[in-house]
Amino acid sequence: MSRKTISIVLLLTVMVAFGGCTAKVKEEIQADMVEELPDSDPILITIAAVGDVMAHMPQVNGAWDPEREVYDFSPSFKEIAPYLQAADLTIANLETVLDDSRPYSGYPRFNSPSALAVALLDAGVDIVTTANNHALDQGESGLLNCLDHLDEIGIGHTGTFRNEAERQPLHIDVRGIGLACLAYTTTTNGLPVPKGKDYLVNIWDPDQAEADIRLARRQGADFVIVSIHFGPEYQRYPAQEQKQIARELVEIGADLILGCHPHVVQPWEEQIKPNGEQRVLIIYSLGNFLSNQYFPYTDRGVILKATLIQDPLTKMVSLDSYRLIPTKVLREQHHTIVVDDQPEFPKWPSADEM
Ligand SMILES: [Zn+2]
Repeated sequence: MSRKTISIVLLLTVMVAFGGCTAKVKEEIQADMVEELPDSDPILITIAAVGDVMAHMPQVNGAWDPEREVYDFSPSFKEIAPYLQAADLTIANLETVLDDSRPYSGYPRFNSPSALAVALLDAGVDIVTTANNHALDQGESGLLNCLDHLDEIGIGHTGTFRNEAERQPLHIDVRGIGLACLAYTTTTNGLPVPKGKDYLVNIWDPDQAEADIRLARRQGADFVIVSIHFGPEYQRYPAQEQKQIARELVEIGADLILGCHPHVVQPWEEQIKPNGEQRVLIIYSLGNFLSNQYFPYTDRGVILKATLIQDPLTKMVSLDSYRLIPTKVLREQHHTIVVDDQPEFPKWPSADEM
């Protein structure tokens, strides 16, 4: 039973016990009781995050339903959807362009049916991050068409933008708690961002990120989530570059850091903010949530489930607890994502192994 409920029960009991009192005495008793009531209970909300969502051609071809003549990616998510739907906010990294106006393609220049985003939304994903090395796989028009599709479908997005005015932190209100999402990538696979159109893709720049986080706070964010696309692929441990960027993000005020791009799960750690109080969780790589990749560990990922708490007095929002749910893609079974019952999480090497 919550403190608030307990207080109300007490109040009712007192009112019954003093049933014979005058209305004035009752009012005084109630006023005294109300003064002692705590402001309110802390508010708890949950965030879920998953890593790279890719669509290689075996998946695209497998998603084609010849009877209905539509692409349907929902079988991939049917097992795992309850884990995503249970969170107040779920974030995924969309590692492909969605442009139905041109041929679909897999590696190295991805273009997937927009039905992929429909399946993500139905599975419980609220926001996709689009700042990654495949953002420009279909050029500027592919990037713009992808944003139009995401808007039509009604799924949130951040990391790529149509114009400078749109390049703003993405704000989400969850039961009065202001969350902001930002996304950056360190690479576009050598595909140049069109001249004078830097707004198209959020390329990692610590000064820009610091300004964005400040802006998000000024706009009312209580908690800032940063997705960062970085590091060498297929490495089970973060590179120095990743550690450096994560440190910079902690210093400039990020509250939660979601790493993507290595395509395998990397270890996670907590760091303390410069204020010496709050913890910042860094997931160096969430791994692959969905793909047809078959290199070691690339069929695995994690779902981060983080609980945030708002202090009822200070209104400060911080990380309360978290857990990681291991996932695996069953490539031979419609690329269905399931909970991995034999996870092999990489552990930080001990001092004598380093
Ligand atoms: Zn990537």
